[in-house]
Amino acid sequence: GFASEAYDVAVIGGGPGGYVAAIKSAQLGLKTVCVEKRGALGGTCLNVGCIPSKALLNISHKYHEMLHDYAKMGISFDNPAFDVAKMMAQKEKSVKGLTGGIEFLFKRNKVDYIKGWGKLTGPTEVSVDLNEGGSKQLSAKNIIIATGSDPAPMPGGSLVADEKTILTSTGAIALEDVPKKMVVVGGGYIGLELGSVWGRLGAEIEVVEFTDKIAGTLDGEVGKAFQKTLEKQGMKFHLGTKVVGAEVHANGATVITEPAKGGAQSKIECDKILLSVGRVPFTEGLGLEQLGVTKDKMGRVDVDPHTFQVPNFPSLRAIGDVIVGPMLAHKAEEEGIAAVELIAGQGAGHVNYNAIPGVVYTHPEVAGVGLTEEQCKEQKIAYKKGSFPFAANSRARTNDDSEGLVKVITEAESDKVIGAHMIGPNAGELIAEMVLAIEYGAASEDVARTCHAHPTLSEAVKEACMAAHGKPIHF
Ligand code: FAD
Repeated sequence: GFASEAYDVAVIGGGPGGYVAAIKSAQLGLKTVCVEKRGALGGTCLNVGCIPSKALLNISHKYHEMLHDYAKMGISFDNPAFDVAKMMAQKEKSVKGLTGGIEFLFKRNKVDYIKGWGKLTGPTEVSVDLNEGGSKQLSAKNIIIATGSDPAPMPGGSLVADEKTILTSTGAIALEDVPKKMVVVGGGYIGLELGSVWGRLGAEIEVVEFTDKIAGTLDGEVGKAFQKTLEKQGMKFHLGTKVVGAEVHANGATVITEPAKGGAQSKIECDKILLSVGRVPFTEGLGLEQLGVTKDKMGRVDVDPHTFQVPNFPSLRAIGDVIVGPMLAHKAEEEGIAAVELIAGQGAGHVNYNAIPGVVYTHPEVAGVGLTEEQCKEQKIAYKKGSFPFAANSRARTNDDSEGLVKVITEAESDKVIGAHMIGPNAGELIAEMVLAIEYGAASEDVARTCHAHPTLSEAVKEACMAAHGKPIHF
């Protein structure tokens, strides 16, 4: 056959894990190639995930604010109107700009980019079915599997997405009209964000969730406040309820539910169903089985938790959504950098899994990092906590956007910050300070004695830290 092209590092998948690993690898002087089948870089996150959903959240929030909050500030206008096609065009513009930006970064850092489906044909061999036809053989001393995830199918198969009536997140970010009523199956962050988008634009939203709470990994107190907030916005919840089937008809569907514990069935009529019951690792057509690479029972590639190496294959590593851990873009990125630093023999090659923030980009936003109160209790950790409501923060009050609170959890004896959880305006940005506190081993007193600009929302974080070891000033 043809001579294969030789690389130090070949990355399969161009999502946040893969493209960041590829750029870092080239920056460290390694000859690097990235194989991506989608036709665009950025993976799930840029193309059908984080970015398009945030574009829609931003636009729908502005419209909702205009309808509901402007009049009291003295701003009025005639005939407010909404154009879904223009919103989608604006979303596309953000996505195109950002995916193009990564392609530019590849060129600038001299990462080779091959558009095609990569398949492992040996521990140091990749065969690519090129999108333009034909194939290409690559050899690489190191291969990084960063093939990401796909929407999970409904357990038991009682609903199957057709992207017309029964949508996955990919369909729900590309609707042509505002549905009259949408049933969201699964109360995780993706369902709640996209439910918020269409709810703000006028859809009636009902969320069916199997467990007894929404966004289950949140700190309990914050989770409860979050549910109340969404209910106030008009979202309806059926907790402890399972979807057992749906009948799709000419202009919508009937969703059939049942109490999770069993009991009488109910029906909900709607015109769209959003299936958001999680995501599953994607390893189709990658050649793992032929090579003998093992996966866990959830289909995730087995790796050494410190080196990301695949057991028995030292040249193979895997990162991001395709391995264990929170399915988040920034987690994938951190792993990508750590894996490449290990390959280059540089750096600590370390990811601190206690300091990975999670954010729900609703309004207000919800953000958390580190241990929740429930986890402290389970793990019998002696902790203290301090909270501060945004209602007592001058900037939040000035902006008339003061729903929510900041809660900081510290180790009782040392005062070290071990968790922070918040719901409130810009919580997704505010959490960064608490991530840094955890990463640096800061005490709540360290943060409380740090000068924060006035008037800013960040003062609520400072005051929650004051409350964790003493008393806040403004509450
Ligand atoms: P992916 O981004 O899935 O990238 C994998 C890439 O590999 C894909 O482009 C795929 O085409 C390619 N690929 C797969 N197999 C092959 C092959 N054999 N050959 C070549 N290419 C291949 N996370 C956040 O942190 N914040 C958010 O706000 C957020 N919002 C989200 C909203 C939605 C609606 C969704 C669906 C997800 C969201 N996520 C968010 C999750 C985030 O998108 C993922 O955690 C992240 O994309 C994982 O990165 P990754 O690199 O591991 O995989």
